[in-house]
Amino acid sequence: MKRTLSVLLVLMLIMTLAGCSQGTTVEEPQIAESAIQDGTFTGIGEGKNGDIEVEVTIAGGVITQAKVLSSDDTEGISDVAIEQVIAAVVANNSTNVEAVSGASLTSFGLLEAVRDAVSKAGATEADFTTDMVIALAKRTEEADQSFDVVIIGAGGAGLAAAVEASEAGASVVVLEKMPFIGGNTMVSGGGLNVPGSWAQEAVGVDDSIELYFEDTMKGGDNLANPSLVHILADNALNAALWLKEDLGVGFMEDRLQQFGGHSVARAIIATGNHGTDLIEKLAARAEETGVVIKMEIKANELMIEDGRVVGVVAEAANGDAVVFHAEKGVIMATGGFGSNMEMRMQYNPELDDRYMTTDQPGTTGDGIIMAEVVNAELIGMEYIQTYPTCNPVTGIISYVANTRFDGGILVNMEGERFVNEMDRRDVVSRGILEQTSASAFLLWGQEIETKGHMTEVHDLEFATLKDQGLLVEAATLEEAAQVLGVNVEALTASVAEYNQFVAGEVELDVVKKGALRTIAEGPFYLQRVVPSVHHTMGGLMINEEAQVINQDGEAVEGLYAAGEVTGGIHGSNRLGGNAVTDVIVFGRIAGRNVVK
Ligand code: ADP
Repeated sequence: MKRTLSVLLVLMLIMTLAGCSQGTTVEEPQIAESAIQDGTFTGIGEGKNGDIEVEVTIAGGVITQAKVLSSDDTEGISDVAIEQVIAAVVANNSTNVEAVSGASLTSFGLLEAVRDAVSKAGATEADFTTDMVIALAKRTEEADQSFDVVIIGAGGAGLAAAVEASEAGASVVVLEKMPFIGGNTMVSGGGLNVPGSWAQEAVGVDDSIELYFEDTMKGGDNLANPSLVHILADNALNAALWLKEDLGVGFMEDRLQQFGGHSVARAIIATGNHGTDLIEKLAARAEETGVVIKMEIKANELMIEDGRVVGVVAEAANGDAVVFHAEKGVIMATGGFGSNMEMRMQYNPELDDRYMTTDQPGTTGDGIIMAEVVNAELIGMEYIQTYPTCNPVTGIISYVANTRFDGGILVNMEGERFVNEMDRRDVVSRGILEQTSASAFLLWGQEIETKGHMTEVHDLEFATLKDQGLLVEAATLEEAAQVLGVNVEALTASVAEYNQFVAGEVELDVVKKGALRTIAEGPFYLQRVVPSVHHTMGGLMINEEAQVINQDGEAVEGLYAAGEVTGGIHGSNRLGGNAVTDVIVFGRIAGRNVVK
């Protein structure tokens, strides 16, 4: 566009000059040939998870087509960015395009890749850059729509509910306010506790539904609703088999994880130690069975008729109000409120701005606010969990730091252990906040690294942490300590004592539970970590059928809830690996019951 303009300007200038020199002989104007070649060119940009490769076709000096050849960015998160950004580039012949909120790194990577491709056609940066940023086209929606079931939130709970409701014959729409699906399940480690799983059988771990029930109750200070915890424990294996065998979710063959507070290792871990496969397979099955998933639609209000919930008033991406009638009912699956600082502090002032959050930005407690209109009973709102080992720059959970479960130890800047690394998340988190600079350092060596290969399984995160100066890999303990400013002598002494403890030669002042492995073989890894808000245990009270209960103790007609928006399942503290079990078990229950 700019190129055409400059050619026009040159032409006008020559004609003006020609006009000024009347009577003289004017030669044919010489317009420089366009330096931009026509053809198809590929380019590379850096997306969220690695390189994005695009192919751009130029004809007549204009971008006529662009498509993504490869990208490692997460499906479900990057889809909308790819579709909208590429469409805007082609429609406007410009790489000066707005990023998709929530998928900005993918957007930037795409634009960088297009710029790289057009540079190979001989274009300069200015050739395909409009002065104004191109705003992305916002989707429009029909103002009035009807389905049997309206589900709010496309995280694990919402999608599991959608599959069940749809398979029972209902027409289902899932409303998701973000431009991507998956919620916190997508950004999770993909672990779920399952007593009696194939993975436990393979390594001979003796477990039972009753033991899992007891651990979960105890882990939440016995404040959970026992009948809901029984449902969780009774249905965990069935849910896992459904995921694996019916939906085809992949699980890591050699990994069975013991999170803090569990008596035995009982968490199976989805492929890649993240939630992507879970969400992709749930969404794929939902779409196969006819579920309509609508992104960038924010539910704002429940519609009530004669005390029954009959639909949802939502806001489309372009700001228009859209009514979704729900013939059979509405399922609230909006997640927790970890990303809503005001709400966090309203219910528990301790969770102030010292804490970032591991959550994706959509978890702002909308479901709890929307359910006020039906006088929903709230339970356990003050119980907000922090995750101890997160990235001090972004607040997001560190999966590389899962080496803690394989035997990594936490030390402070003074080089000393201060907490049982396998204690409950709240205990470890508070312990870390009490240390100098309110952070801690996780240390491990080869004995631990070769157990879980965390730096390989999470290679992208590992590289990012190194770039951010938050993780050091060093041949010696001394070097690692020096780089991150940890007291070298004290750390060396602590590690020597720790190794003696692993060998059964001494006792430690600070208890250490879980896997015991020495830290003697290099390279050594030292990683700075902070706690971050991770899970809100409180929320809407539900009954065994996943119906929302009001303040008079009655089930609200037409309103169901599942997942982190509910309260009462985890008491004061959710154990690791229990969130995914919860969202799948109760999502399915809500989806089955709403159509009854
Ligand atoms: P759960 O683990 O319970 O499934 P998640 O946090 O994974 O919860 O998912 C909740 C989803 O709900 C997120 O994707 C979030 O963006 C979405 N969500 C939250 N509030 C709304 C709303 N008002 N309208 C539509 N979607 C919402």
